[in-house]
Amino acid sequence: MQLTGETQILNAMEPIVHSIFEEHVLPNRALKCDCDKCKLDIIVLTLNHVKPHYTSTQVGEAYIKALYMNTQMISDVIQELARSVLVVEQKPNH
Ligand SMILES: [Zn+2]
Repeated sequence: MQLTGETQILNAMEPIVHSIFEEHVLPNRALKCDCDKCKLDIIVLTLNHVKPHYTSTQVGEAYIKALYMNTQMISDVIQELARSVLVVEQKPNH
């Protein structure tokens, strides 16, 4: 997650989807292709399907931690990631 000094609006789902992907998907499922491009496509596709949760970068960290407590939201993200993995594996963008 890169934030420049000028960034003021953050979609909290970005770091959340990233870390759920790394902590819950990658250890449990071997990807057909695990290049960076496919991984990024999976994350982008997922972000387009889950509801964004915008926050400002100043309160971002606390907001993200609070969202992590929402187990329903986390399980929705895991489901959406699993779907995105299938889509990208069937049609890799390279
Ligand atoms: Zn690939």
